[in-house]
Amino acid sequence: MSHQQDLQELINLIKEYLPNANFSLIEKAYNFALNAHYCQTRASGEPYIIHCYNTAKILTELKLDEATICAALLHDVLEDTLVVREELKEEFGEEITTLVEGVTKINSYKFSDNITAQAENWRKMLLAIVKDTRVIIIKLADRLHNMRTIKFLSPDKQKEISTETLTLYTPFAHRLGIYKWKSELEDLIFEVLQPAKYKEIRAKWQARSESNVQNLELVQQQIKEKIAGLNFPYRILARPKNLYGIYKKMQRQEKPFSAIQDLFGMRIITDTQEHCYTLLSIIQSEFKTLENSFTDYIAVPKANMYQSLHITIVSDRNVIVEIQIRTEEMHRRAEYGIAAHWRYKAAFEKNGAANLKQTDVNMEHHLEFIKHILESQKDVNDSNEFLTAIKTECNFDQIYVSTPKGDAVKLPEGATALDFAYAVHSDIGDRCMGVKVDGKMVPLDYKLKTGQKCEALVRKNICPTENWLKIAITAQARSRIRKYLREHKK
Ligand code: MN
Repeated sequence: MSHQQDLQELINLIKEYLPNANFSLIEKAYNFALNAHYCQTRASGEPYIIHCYNTAKILTELKLDEATICAALLHDVLEDTLVVREELKEEFGEEITTLVEGVTKINSYKFSDNITAQAENWRKMLLAIVKDTRVIIIKLADRLHNMRTIKFLSPDKQKEISTETLTLYTPFAHRLGIYKWKSELEDLIFEVLQPAKYKEIRAKWQARSESNVQNLELVQQQIKEKIAGLNFPYRILARPKNLYGIYKKMQRQEKPFSAIQDLFGMRIITDTQEHCYTLLSIIQSEFKTLENSFTDYIAVPKANMYQSLHITIVSDRNVIVEIQIRTEEMHRRAEYGIAAHWRYKAAFEKNGAANLKQTDVNMEHHLEFIKHILESQKDVNDSNEFLTAIKTECNFDQIYVSTPKGDAVKLPEGATALDFAYAVHSDIGDRCMGVKVDGKMVPLDYKLKTGQKCEALVRKNICPTENWLKIAITAQARSRIRKYLREHKK
């Protein structure tokens, strides 16, 4: 395709979500980058502008504003061409220039085995993100395109870039909730760093999915037939594979590929929250479901605002399929996280608080973890501890506590003592008067932390109350409490 066709395609993509964008500015940025990188080629032999164009194009998935798109087109001009800051500022203004500068700075933070240097790079990166999150989002798009084209580099260079991506960038993609990019990055890294394992799992996955295509279509057909009578919009998507995720699961559970069951997933996306629950009840009545497989992330969203209903079914021919039910908005957030909300923020700044949606407030709150890490670093001043804090913060979804016997109990972050009691056994939950945490009695609403030793104490005359629904956050505890209240209403 010609450069002009590329530019037109980019403009068309932006038009879909920003019909009033400053398209002449975007065109100017494109042509500026084209001239600045004139005669430069990528390792693939393609003109350099193709990389700038693709970085910008990836960012349109997140519906990012025109300044971010322009900065993406220009992201390598300060580092790789003769263009200087003043010139860029003159042509494109302070906002775009600062973004380009931010990306250029991040490029200088090289991955290092040295703990102190690594901690220092992380600190700089976190400071840059707190200043403007768009910088790391542009960097992630840049890295995604570099990883997609990595096969043109030497084997050593491939390994170096993959290791750096795994250490520095995928944690951010995870923590910002851009799962779509994160899983693609992980699979690309996996292929470079563990080629034999990657090929093995890919071949097995393909073989298994081929033998299951018919079964999956049957499940889909059954669902469609049942929904047909209802009058609301929906679409069914097959879940894309994440080979690295399968591999990690095999390691975590110490199981061979053949023992991994939930390889297949389906998503049903509809318009409203109410219809999500309608779909759930249809699935529950039409299919055999796996015990304890229901999780209500709509009532209790994950820390990263992820919402969905999860339920695992066993089809007539014994194929295990995890089904995720969500609204379009939840789906967008599940794929792109808080980055999906940048345009709302821009709208807020232009139109004031009246137009601010609830989720947008959460976005600012969502980035607070970075400030917390930076603050905690002031107290610890220890590189190792700092890196550990980052790792925990970047990957947190789940905590682990143990029973007096030493059995590990996995709970979502924010889980209370009452959730623990229900996780041990529903009868223990129903009769729970309190929990001993590390030897001390705590109230039922006490929030648990990883590593604590917990013992639930029961008493016969105790029973669940309405108030318990305000305390329990796990789907397991909440559904059991609801059930008890329902049965004892009369
Ligand atoms: Mn680049």
